[in-house]
Amino acid sequence: MSKLCFVYSTMNSGKTLELIKTAHYYEERNKKVLIFTSEKDTRNGVIHRDNKIGKVVARIGYSRPAWLIERIDCYEMAKNEKPDCIFVDEVQFLTKDIILKIISIVDNLDIPVTCYGLKCDFQNNLFESSALLLSYSDVLKELEIDCWYCNKKALLNLRMNNNDPVFEGELLLVGGSESYKPVCRRCYNMLKSQKS
Ligand SMILES: [Zn+2]
Repeated sequence: MSKLCFVYSTMNSGKTLELIKTAHYYEERNKKVLIFTSEKDTRNGVIHRDNKIGKVVARIGYSRPAWLIERIDCYEMAKNEKPDCIFVDEVQFLTKDIILKIISIVDNLDIPVTCYGLKCDFQNNLFESSALLLSYSDVLKELEIDCWYCNKKALLNLRMNNNDPVFEGELLLVGGSESYKPVCRRCYNMLKSQKS
């Protein structure tokens, strides 16, 4: 039976690099992979093919084309292409319907899927899609990274605005390390209490 795997963490922990690395290992062994990402990650732009292909980009410089999962039918594509494994990046942006489709790819088509994404938003609430994946995945893997300010494990995503932490605002604000810092619970709460 194929497995559903969820690799989660805070911002800037190398999730996409892990995806690209794992996909590469599969291909080295002549296995076919399909890579999906969300159209909501607008950092990397859409590249071609009727605006259905974007990119997954690791911050240290590697990138790969990826189907924008909201613009195609991932179940039909998986059924037709019959890949050995599917990788999905930026799953925190996905709807419940798409997560259920991903689950049915694993259970009905018997194709393993590994999802990569954030667990919580900048106010420490679970993303709906991540909550579903935490409940339903066969394998959970946390990528650990140190807090930006101390050496404890980062658990939370601190939103920055011109180097100043912010604790309110729109839920979805796509950005990189200039907009978010991975922080531990203690530093997060300390910075928050200084604000109030
Ligand atoms: Zn800290």
